[in-house]
Amino acid sequence: MKENYIVEPPEALCAACGTPFQSNETSFLLCDESPLCPGCVSKVRLLYPLVGTKSGVDPLRNQTLATYQEAAKRAYGYREELRKAHDNHSAVFVVDKVQIGRAGLLKKPIVHAFGHVLYGTFFALDTVLIQRKKENKPVQLRACPRDCPENTLVTDLHAEYLQHDGDFVANEGYEAIFLFEGKGLHIQPGTMIVKD
Ligand SMILES: [Zn+2]
Repeated sequence: MKENYIVEPPEALCAACGTPFQSNETSFLLCDESPLCPGCVSKVRLLYPLVGTKSGVDPLRNQTLATYQEAAKRAYGYREELRKAHDNHSAVFVVDKVQIGRAGLLKKPIVHAFGHVLYGTFFALDTVLIQRKKENKPVQLRACPRDCPENTLVTDLHAEYLQHDGDFVANEGYEAIFLFEGKGLHIQPGTMIVKD
C-alpha cells in the first residue's frame, strides 16, 4: 500500500536571514522571487533609496538574491563612509523642498521640510540640528505620521513623501516630512538636518 504524503506548504522564510514570516507579514520579493523580511530590506535601503521614484519602481526589486547579498556586505562600509563625510553625525536628512503653513493667525509658522534620509534613523521628538553656515540651531523634531493633524496643511500632491504610518520613524533611504514650528528656521532645499 502506498503511503499518503501530505505535502505541507513550506514555511515561508526570509531568503537572506532565514527568519520565518509572521502570518500577517508581507514579504518583499526580489526579481528572482526570493522573499526578504523587513529587517533585511532595511539593511540595504541606503544603497537603493526610495527617493524621487515617481515611476513607482523600487530599485531594490530589480536585484536578485546574489546581488542583494553582495549589497548587504557593502552597506555597512558605505554607511560608515557617509558618516565620516558628515562629521560623524548619527543621522542626516536632506531637505528637497519646503512648504510653510500656519495653524492659526496668531500661531507660529509650521515648516514642512520634505526630503529624504541619507543615512541613520530619526524618531519623533528627536532633538536635531538644522545645519547652516554660521550656526547650528538645535530644534526638536515634530515629524509626524500620515494621520498627524499638522498634515492637514500638506496637499495630496505630497502624499508620496508619507511613507510611514503609526509612530513616526524616518529610516535611511526613505522620503519623509519633518515638521518644525517657529520663526527664522531658515530651512530651504539643500539644508541638512542632522542628529548626533
Ligand atoms: Zn531577513
